[in-house]
Amino acid sequence: EYILAIETSCDETAAAIIKDGKVIVANIVASQIESHKRFGGVVPEVASRHHVEQITLVIEEALQTAQLAPKELSAVAVTEGPGLVGALLIGINAAKAFAFAHQLPLIGVHHIAGHIYANALVQPMVFPLLALVVSGGHTELVLMRNAGSFEVIGETRDDAAGEAYDKVARVLHLPYPGGPHIDRLAHEATEAVDFPRVWLEEDSYDFSFSGLKSAVINYQHNLQQKGESIDASAVAKGFQDSVVEVLTAKTLRAAREYQVKQVIAAGGVSANKGLRASLTHTFKNEGIPFYVPPLHLCTDNAAMIGAAASEMFKARQFGALNMNGNPGMALKSWLVEQ
Ligand code: ATP
Ligand code: MG
Ligand code: FE
Repeated sequence: EYILAIETSCDETAAAIIKDGKVIVANIVASQIESHKRFGGVVPEVASRHHVEQITLVIEEALQTAQLAPKELSAVAVTEGPGLVGALLIGINAAKAFAFAHQLPLIGVHHIAGHIYANALVQPMVFPLLALVVSGGHTELVLMRNAGSFEVIGETRDDAAGEAYDKVARVLHLPYPGGPHIDRLAHEATEAVDFPRVWLEEDSYDFSFSGLKSAVINYQHNLQQKGESIDASAVAKGFQDSVVEVLTAKTLRAAREYQVKQVIAAGGVSANKGLRASLTHTFKNEGIPFYVPPLHLCTDNAAMIGAAASEMFKARQFGALNMNGNPGMALKSWLVEQ
């Protein structure tokens, strides 16, 4: 089976073709980062305009790369939510038009299910599985007892991990998106500023990063007032150490409690070198297989949407041609738990 997948939830216009849920036949990503950089973040109107300009091109390029005609496809999948509503709608309308024109079933995919299923493109997923989802808008621990079943056992109460990275980067005058820059600085650092670890209640799998973000901002203000210069790499390392320690410890505790057979990381922040190293080391010691996708499958792409859609295709979870953008879409299971 070949699935054409489309992703336009944020600032990447992407189309991919996935064979049997695991083989990437084409994976085209048109990034808008350069256009949003000067605003220091994603501007929704700018994002929509770019998607309109790029969407037809990326779909055509995906089909061309795959050397497939539309009639050889099994379905068209698209990110239904969450995300920017105007951005989502560009992808959804393109998917609907394509599905209608070529008489193909339409599949609406949850963006986070996509991030999680990026792992299926690298190795088979084994259940029960624990996914640490860390991205620009989400920080969640998701328990999957079966394929297509999602239970959010912990989530952020304020900022997402990626959001905290981007805000701290702005304080340090680093370009947008800040995550990769902080990551690099943290690795070059020889010292680390001591910032707090926020654990919340003892049994909680929830996260909170706004206090840490404020601690960084206060630290910078204090130095500024004293007229002292800031050691950006020591701040970056101190911040990253705190984020990585909390994410790793909570993931480990959840993996033990739910006795999972596999732990995976997903989302843009899982591209982080410090986090990858910490999780790899921790779960090696623990004896639980840990996987994280290659960098280009951690950040937004359509291949991951196609991988999730393939599971939904098997479960015959089709969308209707009146599908709408769902900016606050909840992560729901599509298979009844056994
Ligand atoms: P969501 O998936 O929650 O809807 P999004 O799609 O905008 O949000 P992603 O594209 O998955 O988010 O991830 C983008 C985020 O990942 C940005 O906040 C970026 O700073 C962060 N990021 C990317 N690379 C790294 C890195 N090496 N270290 C830390 N953060 C990183
Ligand atoms: Mg993005
Ligand atoms: Fe994302």
